[in-house]
Amino acid sequence: MDKIELIINEIAQNKIEFNEGCQTVLNDKGFNFETIFSCLRNYIFNSIPEKTNYNTQTYQNAIKTIPLKSTFTPIVILKSFDTKIAFNKLEKIIENEREKTIIALLWILKQTDTERRNTECKNGCGHDWHNIE
Ligand SMILES: [Zn+2]
Repeated sequence: MDKIELIINEIAQNKIEFNEGCQTVLNDKGFNFETIFSCLRNYIFNSIPEKTNYNTQTYQNAIKTIPLKSTFTPIVILKSFDTKIAFNKLEKIIENEREKTIIALLWILKQTDTERRNTECKNGCGHDWHNIE
């Protein structure tokens, strides 16, 4: 797990305050949208138990509560399209929407991963990212 992956998981596990964590990820010297996007997509899809459409109540609640204006393009995309299609669109989003996209995905992961930790992983799990100090 590299430094950014560690921070992403600390955000998901409430070990760092959300906004502070977002700023740490976005201001990292090695920030690379493609890398962080695909990392977040993997973690989010992994954390959603429904593997056909990746659509659960927790996912729906997460996209409704993203702490950004609901008229921002990434939020509109997430609300308007099925999960996989929305993520394919976000992957190609224009440069000045990229930071908002990362914040939105960090928020979604925080919700979906928390649900997983409270259910499937509740009695211990072998996920190394759930067993960080
Ligand atoms: Zn786990």
